[in-house]
Amino acid sequence: MADILYVVIPCYKEEEVLPETSSRMKKKMDALISQGKISENSRVMFVNDGSTDSTWEIITRLHCEDKLFSGVNLSRNRGHQNALLAGLMTAVKYADMVISMDADLQDDINAIDAMVDKYYQGCDVVYGVRSSRAKDTFFKKFTAEGFYKFMKLMGADIVFNHADYRLMSKRALEGLAQFGEVNLFLRGIVPEIGYRSDTVEYERAERFAGESKYPLKKMLSFAFDGITSFSIKPIRLIIDLGFVISVLSVIFLIYSIIVKIMGGSVAGWSSLMASIWLIGGIQLLSIGVIGEYIGKIYKETKHRPRFIIESVLNKEK
Ligand code: UDP
Ligand code: MG
Repeated sequence: MADILYVVIPCYKEEEVLPETSSRMKKKMDALISQGKISENSRVMFVNDGSTDSTWEIITRLHCEDKLFSGVNLSRNRGHQNALLAGLMTAVKYADMVISMDADLQDDINAIDAMVDKYYQGCDVVYGVRSSRAKDTFFKKFTAEGFYKFMKLMGADIVFNHADYRLMSKRALEGLAQFGEVNLFLRGIVPEIGYRSDTVEYERAERFAGESKYPLKKMLSFAFDGITSFSIKPIRLIIDLGFVISVLSVIFLIYSIIVKIMGGSVAGWSSLMASIWLIGGIQLLSIGVIGEYIGKIYKETKHRPRFIIESVLNKEK
């Protein structure tokens, strides 16, 4: 008997793409079932992340027409990462392996075959990695690749060019369930779980329809969140900077005392002003960075739920 696969797809206002996504997923899943690679109790689980359009109605209809489709309805919009986690934590109850992917068909569904093969070869985590970004706009490519490089530089160890398209086994998901953090950055957490992992390359397509739900502002805050959830390197950099500036100011102090003793003129007003502004700026920035960490601690200590599920539509058999 083949293992049960659940494909978890978070959806936020995706009414334009859902009909196409579901029909392509239907073909893919049927093919995998008939090849005997996955059990016929496998499902495609859509997570409705508090959409204000007809996304949930479409999911409900799909579920009624075909038991292949399941649905999880969140009580409100919680963002991509939380919606994904809600789906994963629901699917783990029924599945042996779970694949997470986006609703907009940017993740090539033909990579699923290779992911499942790697799972049977004994991998607990299989990362989908983009082979190229030929279809992305220059801006998206530049910002996204910059993001991965900057993350690495800042000490968050993530898989290059891997988004949230991945397969995880039941035990890897049970590992994930033990990470209780509220500041969720799945790409950073999954490598921490451990177990054997591998990658599968795929070509990233264009969004099938609709608009990206990640405008630049959300992307920047996602990057900053990722860094501050995973490393304290920014604080270390502040310490280094403080150290360098302290050493420099001591040297400068000695220099000005010598100038004073030698009877030289008073040091220039402009350099004095410049240094006050510089130090002031650095201090504000540093307090801001440290404040960000305190904010994170504040959020974590409240232990608020990361998502609340309103209803689940799932026929196990
Ligand atoms: N998404 C979500 N909640 C949100 C924003 C996005 O569940 O608040 C889902 C969205 O429906 C999609 C996935 O997250 O399936 C990725 O979003 P999108 O394709 O807009 O991001 P991009 O590919 O542009 O980075
Ligand atoms: Mg997308």
